[in-house]
Amino acid sequence: MNQGIGHLINGELLHDSVTTQPIYNPATGKECGQLPMASRAVVEQALSAAKQAYPSWAATPPSARAQVMYRFKELLVQHQDKICQLITLEHGKVLSDAKGELARGIENVEYACGIPELLKGEHSRQVGTNIDAWSEFQPLGVVVGITPFNFPAMVPLWMWPSAVMCGNSFILKPSERDPSSVLYIVELAHQAGLPKGVLNVVHGGVDVVNQLIDAAEVQAVSFVGSTPIAEAIYQRSAQQGKRCQALGGAKNHAVVMPDADLDMVTNALMGAAFGSCGQRCMAISVAVTVGDHVADALIRQLTPKIEALQVGPGTDESNEMGPIITADQKQKVIDYIDEACTQGASLRVDGRTKTVPDYESGYFLGGTLFDNVTPEMTIYQQEVFGPVLVVVRVNTLEQAIELINQHEYGNGTCIFTRDGEAGRFFSNHVMVGMVGINVPLPVPVSYHSFGGWKRSLFGDLHAYGPDSVRFYTRRKAITQRWPSRGVKDGTQFSFPSYSEE
Ligand code: NAD
Repeated sequence: MNQGIGHLINGELLHDSVTTQPIYNPATGKECGQLPMASRAVVEQALSAAKQAYPSWAATPPSARAQVMYRFKELLVQHQDKICQLITLEHGKVLSDAKGELARGIENVEYACGIPELLKGEHSRQVGTNIDAWSEFQPLGVVVGITPFNFPAMVPLWMWPSAVMCGNSFILKPSERDPSSVLYIVELAHQAGLPKGVLNVVHGGVDVVNQLIDAAEVQAVSFVGSTPIAEAIYQRSAQQGKRCQALGGAKNHAVVMPDADLDMVTNALMGAAFGSCGQRCMAISVAVTVGDHVADALIRQLTPKIEALQVGPGTDESNEMGPIITADQKQKVIDYIDEACTQGASLRVDGRTKTVPDYESGYFLGGTLFDNVTPEMTIYQQEVFGPVLVVVRVNTLEQAIELINQHEYGNGTCIFTRDGEAGRFFSNHVMVGMVGINVPLPVPVSYHSFGGWKRSLFGDLHAYGPDSVRFYTRRKAITQRWPSRGVKDGTQFSFPSYSEE
């Protein structure tokens, strides 16, 4: 049982709360910690710590801030085993997957080390006689981040390293289901020399989130989670004139063309649909097959592989798929499968009754595969967030694109083909934010930004990478003239136009 879960404010671990709630190990179904839900007073404390820390941190030279990030990156590498064990304990994903998550998070820290280069601004000399003009990028102040359970270490690392490198102070509200890895990571950041009040953590649910958004100190809100909550948070922030980026849910389609290499597609779909038990916002949950013979062949190849999936606790390196995050979420996935059967989808592999010897109380499911799914079915329309892959049959690439474009979500998608023209046509016309061509999980590297279209993202800028530097700073444009022989005498009432001087 982890007794050390608390709020981290000014580097101090606090346990003050209105209530506590249990955290479960999803592989065993047993409680492994108690989470304090912050009282209003604790949230006030975090706001005040972040506010106080901000001015001197904002005035710290960016290159000095970067030194902290370099040291932090080294600590992450040194302590990666411990971090991944904490991820697996509370989330359930297999250790190799936890390592992959952390590696992608570390890439964001490496990117943040180079942010001084991106804060340089833009300069124009002599925009008028003896007049120079420039734009610079100043920090916002206190910013907050609210993160989901499915990448407990990586998603916070999408946010706060960029935010603090831009000179802001940060309050993180992590998922209540698996907070321990991120708490450990924040302690490492403090150990690396980050001033303690610059990065604080509070735990809680809707009340804590609303108090943070509404606080006068808070200038911007980053959110990643499900779409209804993303939309509500975006609206609440926008109504108060606050900058917000809110990344939401997904339904990611993979188009399989008749010329695709089916062995490659099968392997790619196994990882993309069932990795992390389907609990990734970029998970492929729909295979769109172009031509019936493609669907038949793909299902023939996928079926034995899904039946043979090694399901069990993430701590056992031989397992390929761990448990679902909670008992409730497991039941929700089963309900979606039941409803799809009722609505006429053809169940090819049924993962509902999977049990793991010695882990009978764990929240395990096997992989599920459906054929003949149609756009009216609930299992097609909703984000299931579990190990379920459905096949939708179409006859042409144009029909596949139309299907994807009509879906309310637009996070990720991919096409499998050997035809460059088809790949290019697809990426030009599909209304989705991140596109793979023979790449099933096209998660952009840290120096490109991440974000979906349609109801997968509310806001203008994407997460991490160059967009994050724009999100966490505001532009100031300065025009400067020093008295000199070129200055015109007298008052000028016309709108300034330097070209006529
Ligand atoms: P969630 O929306 O339930 O929770 C996300 C965060 O919001 C948590 O910190 C939670 O405590 C908080 N929260 C919960 N209810 C709230 C409310 N009513 N008001 C304010 N805050 C609230 O999401 P989850 O189950 O933790 O994560 C899974 C979801 O996140 C999926 O929909 C997945 O697609 C999405 N996700 C999206 C991306 C992306 O980049 N688009 C990345 C990861 C996860």
